[in-house]
Amino acid sequence: MNNSRAAEREEMVNQQILARGIKDPLVLQAMRTVPRHLFVPAPYSREAYQDYPLPIGDGQTISQPYIVAVMTELLSPARGDRILEIGAGSGYQAAVLAACGATVISIERIPAVAELAKKNLANAGVRNVQVLCLDGTMGYPEMAPYDGILITAGAPRIPEVLLDELADGGRLVAPVGDRNIQVLVRVTRNRDEYHTERHGAVRFVPLIGMYGWND
Ligand code: SAH
Repeated sequence: MNNSRAAEREEMVNQQILARGIKDPLVLQAMRTVPRHLFVPAPYSREAYQDYPLPIGDGQTISQPYIVAVMTELLSPARGDRILEIGAGSGYQAAVLAACGATVISIERIPAVAELAKKNLANAGVRNVQVLCLDGTMGYPEMAPYDGILITAGAPRIPEVLLDELADGGRLVAPVGDRNIQVLVRVTRNRDEYHTERHGAVRFVPLIGMYGWND
């Protein structure tokens, strides 16, 4: 994709991702490949591969690399999967999913941020990601069902409509909790049964919308 700063990505993967137990080879390869520095604002470019989130404007952030890896591993995208992401932000997470071989629909509620995601993805040469400016808490039935749904903003609860849009065998990963701290939840659909697991604590900006928090 873009080989510049590959040594920094390798170090990021070794020290932040592999060392903390991420094992999925597809995820590790994606994190080695996607040029994260093209998804952070120019003033932070030097810090692109550091172990923390960074501001992207409009009060929003690009997640810490490790959190992107954890969420991607929980979602477990396979080649050819159709994934719905809610919270496009910088577009980086969508690029990682695309690098795993998925086709991604990424929804962003803030128009300027949706434009930023589109610009970053085009600049990084990422195909297979479509960015739409909508309230993702209302789902996106046009392309359902999805093999995976990833919410990258903190939700008070998982919007019901999104569970309906999961394919049989599909996974939904989301930070669920209060406005300041959440727990990573994975819901796996098996026909009409939904199996829920809880993973570690995380801190995301709030999911705002009809079935999220109030603005
Ligand atoms: N995945 C992003 C980081 C997401 S930050 C990345 O890789 O950079 C969370 C994003 O979710 C913000 O841009 C915020 O505007 C967006 N968001 C919050 N509520 C939303 C909603 N209801 N629908 C779509 N996007 C939403």
